[in-house]
Amino acid sequence: MNRGPRTTLDTEVQYLPGVGPKLAKPMQKLGLRTVRDVLYHFPRRYEDRSNLPPLSQVRAGEWVTVKGLITNVDARPTRSGFSILRATLTDGLGQITLVWFNQPWVAPKLRRDQGMVLAYGQAKAANWGLEMANPEWEWIEDEDEADEFARLMPVYPATEGLTQKQLRRAAASAVQRCADQVVETLPETFRKSLRLAPLVWSMRQIHQPDHLDAARQARSRLVFDEFFAMQLALAMRRAEAGHELGIRFPISELEHRAEAQIGNLFSSDAAELTQGGGFWGLAHRMLPFDLTGAQRRVLQEIFRDMESPHPMNRLVQGDVGSGKTAVAACAMLAAVCCGYQAAMMAPTEILAEQHARNLGRLFEPLGIHVVLMVGKLTAKQRQKARDEAASGVAQIVVGTHALVQEGVSFAKLGLIVVDEQHRFGVMHRKSLLSKGYGNPDVLVMTATPIPRTLTMTLYGDLDVSIIDELPPGRSPIITHLKPPDARENVYRGVRAMIDAGRQAYVVCPLVAESDKMQAQAAEDLHYRLSQETFPDLEVGLLHGQMKPKDKEAIMDRFRAGEIQVLVSTTVIEVGVDVPNASVMVIEDAHRFGLAQLHQLRGRVGRGPHQSYCILIADTKNPETEERMQVIAATADGFKIAEEDLRIRGPGEIAGTKQHGDLDFKLADLVQDSRLLEVSREAATRLIATDPNLSRPEHAALLEQVLAKRTDMALVTVS
Ligand code: ADP
Ligand code: MG
Repeated sequence: MNRGPRTTLDTEVQYLPGVGPKLAKPMQKLGLRTVRDVLYHFPRRYEDRSNLPPLSQVRAGEWVTVKGLITNVDARPTRSGFSILRATLTDGLGQITLVWFNQPWVAPKLRRDQGMVLAYGQAKAANWGLEMANPEWEWIEDEDEADEFARLMPVYPATEGLTQKQLRRAAASAVQRCADQVVETLPETFRKSLRLAPLVWSMRQIHQPDHLDAARQARSRLVFDEFFAMQLALAMRRAEAGHELGIRFPISELEHRAEAQIGNLFSSDAAELTQGGGFWGLAHRMLPFDLTGAQRRVLQEIFRDMESPHPMNRLVQGDVGSGKTAVAACAMLAAVCCGYQAAMMAPTEILAEQHARNLGRLFEPLGIHVVLMVGKLTAKQRQKARDEAASGVAQIVVGTHALVQEGVSFAKLGLIVVDEQHRFGVMHRKSLLSKGYGNPDVLVMTATPIPRTLTMTLYGDLDVSIIDELPPGRSPIITHLKPPDARENVYRGVRAMIDAGRQAYVVCPLVAESDKMQAQAAEDLHYRLSQETFPDLEVGLLHGQMKPKDKEAIMDRFRAGEIQVLVSTTVIEVGVDVPNASVMVIEDAHRFGLAQLHQLRGRVGRGPHQSYCILIADTKNPETEERMQVIAATADGFKIAEEDLRIRGPGEIAGTKQHGDLDFKLADLVQDSRLLEVSREAATRLIATDPNLSRPEHAALLEQVLAKRTDMALVTVS
């Protein structure tokens, strides 16, 4: 029965029976080149056509399959040049009108071939009874065809020039000829222990499900496979990193020494400061407050990594204001005490400067020298900073990515702290290593909490610590949602707070088109506020198009209290810390993402004063209303991030767009989070027993993982 060459998974689609050369082109548009591609082109959903009531029992609103004779065909053009075709379908007791818009080729067919028709669609009430618009339909000659039609039908992602019918035929042909050729990747006992369906069965059922539950089981298996390949690749990378040799920082020895020496590499007059207290005594002296329990726990996790002979690869997550910087400072202090240098990299120059200033305040009194290295330094300053880094005079170097990109050299770099992860890809470490910095420990701090599912995928090769506690004595920020027409009132409230000695941020509406237009929007708002609303106050302006020098000058004046109201774009989003600023107004808040709003809001509530965040938002749209209520009602950044992911999807979460890692065919990070957990745990277990997947029963898995690793290696640092 099978003439010609055998069809295999690698056969080109044009040779797949039921496809042919004419369809090959539109199929290529969907990325379908081989039979394997067709098998892995999964349905988006299913149409349940098995509901096939007698016509007399069809109700309006129902999705149904109807069967009957075409009796009356009426085609007419409309005045606007379209065509409408109506045909009556009856089964003797009931009837329904089938309606086709702009499909002039249907009428002659119906007139010519009158007979039994099956049609699927939604029944709607019309003037004279029920109608079904643009149905899926076909002629039937015998009852078998009715069974074939009236079942769960897959609905595929389609493209121009390719109908569902054609895609279904191609898929059915591929399943019939080649599903059995798909190689099961999971060893049977392993598969059964995870209660997953066999791969071949799943491949059949996802395309031609016997019932919805079977389709669900098939989908679970295939989603698992997508996650599993990635999680295996990540687990292998973690395992490999665990074998690399790095620096062993003797931190606990510092503790036991009566006097911790700062820098056995660098002589320092501050050594005596540590008298008696060891490392923790020194840390205590450095920080103007006691660490929270969560900060201490996370530091212990960091120190355990630093003490191990393998390089640290750790991500610290914590909500805005949870004190990540203090934790990083302690880790840097430990590195310096052990005789190494530490570098801190921030995403922007403003933040680098702020970090340098804050860290300088903490470290310089201990005799630890902090230098700033950013693009705007004069040639002379720059050379001095480079020299200090290269000689080791500077124990701590703060900068932007340029630090690495420009190949700044260090005397003895031991620890790199990366503040704000989004701009750094999974592979960033590799680029550090290739710069000849040896194998320093790397600590990544997120500026925004991200959902756990994203942590497990994007940062899946990092160990994770979470600071889940805010420093004491902080009263929660009160968030109000206000309609645009309450604006005057809002600004009256702002004035009252300024009269009481506080300062305010006003965030201007988000403009997506261009940075230039964004700057213009900020200037407009600044003009309005400085001329009309607060003519008697000092109103500052900060936006991304300003020169670094001007930005810095504005920030300095705001910090000093000379500016009372700061109009800004999202450039203040990350890390800016002015404790006296206790009110923030966000104009057109509905245009921002939730995580972004939360991040912005974190700029207030950083001092002893009760702080407020006022969202001015147009909430006519119920979805907007829902999102704004989430932000108003929740202070927990992790919860907000989960909501953001749920509402907007992973592609929209800041900075994750460029990650090909998240391009799953079937998997959905919100809906399938449990399978992701399961796959991660299973991957860790499997790699523990077979680190290189070299056992014969893991051969098929290894092949998938190698393909996945190539994909992931392409995810480069932006
Ligand atoms: P994050 O970087 O997580 O947003 P920061 O490290 O900037 O948070 O800390 C926010 C504020 O809280 C800073 O003003 C910092 O000095 C203060 N802070 C940090 N840890 C503590 C603590 N344990 N006790 C009191 N204040 C703290
Ligand atoms: Mg910070």
